[in-house]
Amino acid sequence: MVKETKYYEVLGVDPSCSENDLKKAYRKLALKYHPDKNPDAGDQFKEISHAYEILSDSNKRQVYDQFGEAGLNGDGGMGGGMPTDIFEHLFGGGHSNFFDRRPQGPRRGKDMLHSLKVSLEDLYKGKVSKLALQKQVLCAKCDGKGGKDGVAPSTCQGCGGRGIKVVIRQMGPMIQQMQQTCPDCNGEGEILKEKDRCKQCNGKKINTERKILEVFIEKGMRSGQKIPFAGEADQAPGIIPGDIIIVLEEKEHARFTRKDDDLFIKVKIDLLTALTGGQFSIKHLDDRILLVNILPGEVIRPGARKCIRHEGMPRYKNPFDKGGLFIEFEVEFPENNWVTDEAKFKLLEQVLPARQPLPAFGNAVIDEVVLADDEPSSGNRSRYAHDDDMDEDERGHGPQVQCAQQ
Ligand SMILES: [Zn+2]
Ligand SMILES: [Zn+2]
Repeated sequence: MVKETKYYEVLGVDPSCSENDLKKAYRKLALKYHPDKNPDAGDQFKEISHAYEILSDSNKRQVYDQFGEAGLNGDGGMGGGMPTDIFEHLFGGGHSNFFDRRPQGPRRGKDMLHSLKVSLEDLYKGKVSKLALQKQVLCAKCDGKGGKDGVAPSTCQGCGGRGIKVVIRQMGPMIQQMQQTCPDCNGEGEILKEKDRCKQCNGKKINTERKILEVFIEKGMRSGQKIPFAGEADQAPGIIPGDIIIVLEEKEHARFTRKDDDLFIKVKIDLLTALTGGQFSIKHLDDRILLVNILPGEVIRPGARKCIRHEGMPRYKNPFDKGGLFIEFEVEFPENNWVTDEAKFKLLEQVLPARQPLPAFGNAVIDEVVLADDEPSSGNRSRYAHDDDMDEDERGHGPQVQCAQQ
């Protein structure tokens, strides 16, 4: 299915028409509406020419079919200004040979993109994912001919074999003649008698089929990576089917985050382990338990980041080589009043590094105060608010005093 048909309608052709049909339709209309012959139809001539300019260029036509007028981004071309997602869709991930596929001979069908959500576990371990989709296939019973071999189709009565019908349309005061693809024969000009039509496809030559694709998710693949299935897109008579392209989308993980081939995880350890060493465990993406040792003597500070080498993501195409697993530590300090026995503080004083001595105060006035929790009092809050509301001018950009130069 094409996204928009406007340009096709302007030229009075069907979206499935060949380049030749397009040229014929354009010539006919251009002659009719050329400003020399038909000075009142200036805009119409422009519209026809513009539609032909787009559709006669196979690249632009493919973009238009897939993304509509918006895909052409106003400048009517592939140059520069194309939105990146469209560019990606068409050229990304090993499909940069798009330009080599300019249809020569039969037209090439459109590629079909499907996104597939994948868990980090699957990207770590690899997996075969089955994906069911609907696609159009040439009818197997009649071999895509629409009827039995040797039965010649007869000329379509609806259009007299021309494949197009002239429709009279009234647009305001103007009566307009429009050419439309004949709906009876789908623009082919020929039609099979009902009794000769293939029973399977009712003469339509194609059937809808449920197709199951086996998608090989390889270890280390990444979000946005494309897995192509060459020639698996919709089939149609006289068209080389395009590719089905599976685009991987990595699901967010509850514990790990990924950057390239590295994994990141937050781990909370208690203060005792942070100071004296010990063990903690991480359940890995393949359900293995990593039992991690903090050697005595190594102090883990809150927010410290450490790395376990070769426990990150496997590298794509080289899965025995792995990135790093980075651990960001949170140190769980004890709650308030965790020790009520003063004697235990003495024990800590014996083992922890000695307190830093206070600096000398000299003759300064000393006020002893007590800590409160960090909640600004209402008086303070209103003062801050007032500061914020002040205009630039009020904030001390008054008359400036300069140092007198001597
Ligand atoms: Zn059939
Ligand atoms: Zn017809």
